Amino acid sequence: MLVNAKAMLDKAVAGHYAIGAFNTNNLEWCHAIMVAAEETQSPLIIQSSMGAAKYQTGYKTVKKLVNAMYKALDLTIPVALHLDHGTYEACLECIDAGFTSIMYDGSHEESFEINLKNTKDLVKRAHDKGISIECEVGSIGGEEDGVVGMGEVADPDECAAIAECGVDFLAAGIGNIHGVYPENWPGLQFDALAAIKAKTGDLPLVLHGGTGIPDDQIKKAVDLGVAKINVNTELQLVFADATEEYVKAGKIHEGKGFDPRKLLKPGYDAMIAKTKEKICLFGSDGKGWN
Ligand SMILES: [Zn+2]
Repeated sequence: MLVNAKAMLDKAVAGHYAIGAFNTNNLEWCHAIMVAAEETQSPLIIQSSMGAAKYQTGYKTVKKLVNAMYKALDLTIPVALHLDHGTYEACLECIDAGFTSIMYDGSHEESFEINLKNTKDLVKRAHDKGISIECEVGSIGGEEDGVVGMGEVADPDECAAIAECGVDFLAAGIGNIHGVYPENWPGLQFDALAAIKAKTGDLPLVLHGGTGIPDDQIKKAVDLGVAKINVNTELQLVFADATEEYVKAGKIHEGKGFDPRKLLKPGYDAMIAKTKEKICLFGSDGKGWN
């Protein structure tokens, strides 16, 4: 059975490691991410953005695919199905669709007060159904499904106010951005992270935009209380690169190389390898149910 993400993240904070939250886009993504997590015996958060869910015909389809595949693969690790960057309405839909975890991104609301009010409401609705909830303070830079954030650093007092609503884990901007990092990126702002940690105690913190952050900065962030790291772009890149290589090598017309099961295989294998690499970097390998 799919679980919520609270227990696994609380354990990650206590054990000083982080759990990868990998974005799924379709069957191949879901399959590759699950196989990698099972083979490394890591707890797993598999998440869908609103756009990726729409692409797959909706939250119910995503839930059924993830749930059915979890059973069909006979996984022995805890897996949570999480909504990534949901609006208030999307959160309600995912609660209804049977997601075990949601993220309400109120950082784009007109005011912090609206973010706070909606957070309180959604915490109650989620917890009534045993669903874990992530909220956000200070927008993450880069692009999220067409919404471009400038990457502000979260205000520690606002983080504390959101934490007091009873959220299970918190996304707080610390100079991280979605997508590929520009060459002049100054790096994560660890002073800001430490200030947020000081105000939020043992609440698991979430690092969005995990693609392209140097490994030493990832490790330092985990030491400072980051327990969930989102990985999206990186799997897209390795999938695209491996597929390009296959096509450019002329393999499409070698025998039945056009068969989608052959065409998509190099990208699928590349996603398994990358997911395993991330899990080992974050230190959640071997943590399973322990
Ligand atoms: Zn994000």
